Amino acid sequence: MKANYLCPKCRTYLNVGDKIVISAKNERGYKGILLFSIHLGDYEIKKHSNFDIEENESLSMFCPCCHKSLRHPKVHNNIFKILMQDAEDQEYEILFSGVYGERCTYQIKEEKVSSFGKDAGKYLNFTNLINMS
Ligand SMILES: [Zn+2]
Repeated sequence: MKANYLCPKCRTYLNVGDKIVISAKNERGYKGILLFSIHLGDYEIKKHSNFDIEENESLSMFCPCCHKSLRHPKVHNNIFKILMQDAEDQEYEILFSGVYGERCTYQIKEEKVSSFGKDAGKYLNFTNLINMS
């Protein structure tokens, strides 16, 4: 499936090749680029080996173009949001955890939520994702 991913603030395309490019900052304030897979449920993240992130560290994530925070605290302070357009130009919200190593992604359109990852249940308990998004 051919999909595009966009910044919810400036609507710049964030996917290049088969990666989504996100600007990030770790808990100690160091910055780096993260490359996420465009395939929902694939949690391989590429980064420079000098950009140190510990397992369970809470990241801050930003659009690499407008530098606005992608954090979506209406749902949870650990949750970040980007947009997805599928091949039929349908638009979805993609919510994902900013805790490094946590595997948790939600694809949301109107009333419908699809979840991915072994930790997906974690944030579903907190809130109604549909009303909050
Ligand atoms: Zn942006």
